[in-house]
Amino acid sequence: MSPLAGAALYAAVTGRANGGCECAHDRPGGCGRLDHPVTGRWCHQSAGPGVPLHVTPVDPATPDHTAVTLGPDELLALCRACYVRRRNTHRKTREQQLAAELAERQGALFALDTEGITP
Ligand SMILES: [Zn+2]
Ligand SMILES: [Zn+2]
Repeated sequence: MSPLAGAALYAAVTGRANGGCECAHDRPGGCGRLDHPVTGRWCHQSAGPGVPLHVTPVDPATPDHTAVTLGPDELLALCRACYVRRRNTHRKTREQQLAAELAERQGALFALDTEGITP
């Protein structure tokens, strides 16, 4: 069971998809993959013994303290493969964002330096 959701909430979210992964190409929060094994654009992977579905916020950027306050509509049941894939994709995007922000800030710094030097 996900530590983010209580038992009732977990049941509501996983029950909504008949106990299957809710990752789909046409809804937010999925792993973004268009070639899931067997099912293609949608993933209907069911939970199996020892591999429960992950109940996770639709928006991967949601911090944990916000995630615990979400209702079933803002949560998604994902199979382990989709959950891990989505987390990795999100982390990569986030790192690229931070790198871009840093580059921008450094650019501003150099601009300031140049102004300081130029009489
Ligand atoms: Zn899946
Ligand atoms: Zn997926």
